Amino acid sequence: GDYNQKIDYVFKVVLIGDSAVGKTQLLARFARNEFSFDSKATIGVEFQTKTLIIDNKTIKSQIWDTAGQERYRAVTSAYYRGAVGAILVYDMTKRQSFDHMVRWLEELRSHADQSIVIMLIGNKCDLGNLRAVPMEDAEEFAQRENLFFMETSALESTNVETCFLTILTEIYRIH
Ligand code: GDP
Ligand code: MG
Repeated sequence: GDYNQKIDYVFKVVLIGDSAVGKTQLLARFARNEFSFDSKATIGVEFQTKTLIIDNKTIKSQIWDTAGQERYRAVTSAYYRGAVGAILVYDMTKRQSFDHMVRWLEELRSHADQSIVIMLIGNKCDLGNLRAVPMEDAEEFAQRENLFFMETSALESTNVETCFLTILTEIYRIH
C-alpha cells in the first residue's frame, strides 16, 4: 500500500493487447495479489498504483488498464500520454493474440515516447498443454523489436512480480 512516505518517482506503465489475454488479472495479481476468473468486477478502473523500493528509491508505479477498449485503434492517445513503460500482453494459448502484437506495437510506437521501455508477455503459461505460441517465436520477435520478454501466469503468480520489477527497474535505470 501507499503510506505516508516520500515518493521519489512516479512511473506510468500501460497494459495493452487483445481482449481476454489476462491484462486485468495480471494487474490484480501485481497490485493486490488477487485473481479472478470473472474480470467484470474490475472493469472501469483506469489504473492501479503500487509503491516499491528500487535501489533505495521509493517508486510509485501507476499501471493503466484498457478496461474494455481493446478494439483496434479504440485506445485513445490519452491512454499512452506520459507512459514510460508498456506491457504488451498476448495469451500463449491463442495464436491470434500473438500475431496482433505487431499492430499493438505499431500503435504504441506511434503514440508513445521514443524511450518507452517495452515488455512482451505471454500470459497463461499455466495452460502449457494448450500452448499455441512457441517460446522461440516470441523470443525472436522480442529480440528483433528490442523488447523484454517473459511468460507469466496471473493465475499461479508465475513471473508476475518479476515482470513488473524488471520493467520498473529498467525504467528507473534510464531516468
Ligand atoms: P483482459 O481482457 O486482457 O483484461 O483479460 P482478463 O484479465 O479479464 O482475463 C480474461 C480471462 O482469462 C479471465 O477469465 C481470467 O480469469 C483468465 N485469465 C487471466 N490470466 C490467466 C492466467 O494466467 N491463467 C489462466 N488459466 N487464466 C487466466
Ligand atoms: Mg481487462
